[in-house]
Amino acid sequence: MRAAVARRFGEPLVIEDRPIPEPGPGQITVRMQASGLCHTDIHAANGDWPVKPALPFVPGHEGVGAVYAVGDGVTSTQVGDVVAVPWLGYACGECKDCLSGWETLCLRQRNTGYSVDGCYAEYFLAEAAFAAKVPAGVDPFDAAPLTCAGVTTYKAVKVGNVRPADLVAISGVGGLGHLAVQYAKIFGGTVAAIDVTDEKLQLAKDLGADILIDARTQDPAAALQDHGGADVAIGLAVDEKSFATAYAGLRRGGRLILVALPPAGTLSIPVFDTVLNGTSVIGSIVGTRRDLADVFALQALGRTRVIYETRELASVNESIADVLHGRARARLVLRP
Ligand code: NAD
Ligand code: ZN
Ligand code: ZN
Repeated sequence: MRAAVARRFGEPLVIEDRPIPEPGPGQITVRMQASGLCHTDIHAANGDWPVKPALPFVPGHEGVGAVYAVGDGVTSTQVGDVVAVPWLGYACGECKDCLSGWETLCLRQRNTGYSVDGCYAEYFLAEAAFAAKVPAGVDPFDAAPLTCAGVTTYKAVKVGNVRPADLVAISGVGGLGHLAVQYAKIFGGTVAAIDVTDEKLQLAKDLGADILIDARTQDPAAALQDHGGADVAIGLAVDEKSFATAYAGLRRGGRLILVALPPAGTLSIPVFDTVLNGTSVIGSIVGTRRDLADVFALQALGRTRVIYETRELASVNESIADVLHGRARARLVLRP
């Protein structure tokens, strides 16, 4: 089978021929139908973050396909089921975080396409317990972006405690942001979408954004304050400066949710203003299996729209370049 492999940080992925992986106990092998290209995969391949993956590795954590083989002891799924394999590839199920509904914080977690090989391959392995069933009414090409971009932004909207009548700023309308706009609307918010390309701002408008802010020509903080300030701002832009701007656009009692992970990103905020304004700054990492089931249910009900373009697995390097240069539709989804 073919797989796209990161051999050295910052270099193009290499398409390699590898044996089809065989499932161990509790595992499944999935035959890929659709595999989303998350910006996290680009950070992984570049070695952008303090904790780096061990080379070589196969990126990808929005993998959808049919179960091809099951290992010993697997009862939750069978050959032929369509499943989605997310970033949270495994969590222990025993620690304080797992037991309190925060399996995404488990210190013993394994991450698909980072600490274990991922879904940029014709076949990939998954822990059966962490592969989500894709409902019959959800197309695999819609399911792929929902598997990370969807669950992550659904969770961020929940962590931000978005309420009806809240003004919600979505900073960055890419793969994650185009779904964040929709979840913020579902939770009742008024949405201000911020981006730096005409296409992304138009997309946000098409998906229901109420206010559009072009960060090339407008100061997003001032624009948000003109509307009374954001109750919630969700940082999804791969631009360190955009967090401070979003912070400055909050109203009193506002919540800034950090999601994007620019290389070596830092955020400096004034203590005095944060205290006096009762501001919250919260990091949000993907979502749980329960959150992903909710995301698929909303899609099956027709309440969300996934915007994507498909590309061949073999053209993964051109696809990465298109994401980095703003030439991609909301999400690129690789096919075998
Ligand atoms: P993307 O490249 O598809 O989208 C980024 C968007 O930000 C683009 O539309 C781009 O035009 C826009 N942008 C760039 N500069 C901007 C600025 N100054 N102001 C406003 N918008 C700007 O990326 P993505 O796949 O949506 O991922 C976004 C980030 O989220 C990445 O850093 C990724 O690693 C991270 N991520 C985090 C989690 C998590 O659990 N915390 C999960 C998935 C992805
Ligand atoms: Zn745990
Ligand atoms: Zn992702």
